[in-house]
Amino acid sequence: MLAARKKPASSTPQPTIKITALKKIFKVGEERVRALDGVDIEIYPNEFVAIMGASGSGKSTLMNILGCLDQPTSGQYILNGYPTHRKGMGKLAQIRNQEIGFIFQSFELLSRSSALKNVMLPLLYSSTSKRPRKKAKAALSLVGLSDRMSHRPNQLSGGQRQRVAIARALVNDPSILLADEPTGNLDSKTTVEIINLFKDLHQTGQTIVVVTHEEDVAGHAERIIRLRDGRVISDHLTAEDPIHLDWVERMAAGRGSLAEVTQAELEINAQADANRPEPTKARGFFGRKQPKPAPPATSETVDQLDNWDQWEVEQ
Ligand code: ADP
Ligand code: MG
Repeated sequence: MLAARKKPASSTPQPTIKITALKKIFKVGEERVRALDGVDIEIYPNEFVAIMGASGSGKSTLMNILGCLDQPTSGQYILNGYPTHRKGMGKLAQIRNQEIGFIFQSFELLSRSSALKNVMLPLLYSSTSKRPRKKAKAALSLVGLSDRMSHRPNQLSGGQRQRVAIARALVNDPSILLADEPTGNLDSKTTVEIINLFKDLHQTGQTIVVVTHEEDVAGHAERIIRLRDGRVISDHLTAEDPIHLDWVERMAAGRGSLAEVTQAELEINAQADANRPEPTKARGFFGRKQPKPAPPATSETVDQLDNWDQWEVEQ
């Protein structure tokens, strides 16, 4: 069993995430892609939220901003009461390291390094972290990989690789776990295992936002937010989500497939399209320089990890 996280009880909790009128516009040649077109969302401590939407609806763009991997073009993003939207990429990297655990579809592990060193990586960047090896071992044991610490990614199955990535996301005790299609590269049995791990983490108090395009995966979350063309078109508790309920009914009746569109979805999409405002005229911020993405781990980083023992002694 996972240890319970201590969370202060409060009658009016502060949202972990509060985004307001969030927009992200990519300039591609002469064209402007409105990846996020005015999104308002609040997520509270210990919520387990699924974000759904067709390919290209803005899910990854939203997650990258929530994860402080990217900046919005306009709008506000308050994380635990702290406004992040005007911060530069350096400050965002610091916030990310302290507050966010991010899990990618493609795992993004360092192939030359062991599971243990992969999990220690975020601690390398946080000057305050003590006993990195002990923390990384604890995170790996939390995800059930105590017996695989010295394996490199190519010596692990897909599900085990994703567990390493989850341990890496948890090692700094983040206030929020963000996962962008974490089961997209996994078979259905492994998908269930990973989702069950998320449910265990949620039980212990972790706040989780997971992007998926599978209704059965979203069904394990408590709340489903649906995006369409960069806007929120529906936001319901899973037990009250009309599209999800439609889907559950169909599956129970043995009708339809996992991929099929439900009647409720057709109606909600049509309504969202009818309510879509005309795009506003271009404003000054289009000319603003887009932030550079965070640098990938380099061979230098790997060398630093390889010399970790020495590094640890020198601190
Ligand atoms: P999803 O994750 O829901 O599939 P994305 O957030 O990746 O959607 O993309 C939303 C829209 O923004 C798409 O039209 C996509 O082509 C565009 N987009 C995403 N990232 C970039 C980028 N770096 N440059 C230009 N356009 C982008
Ligand atoms: Mg995506």
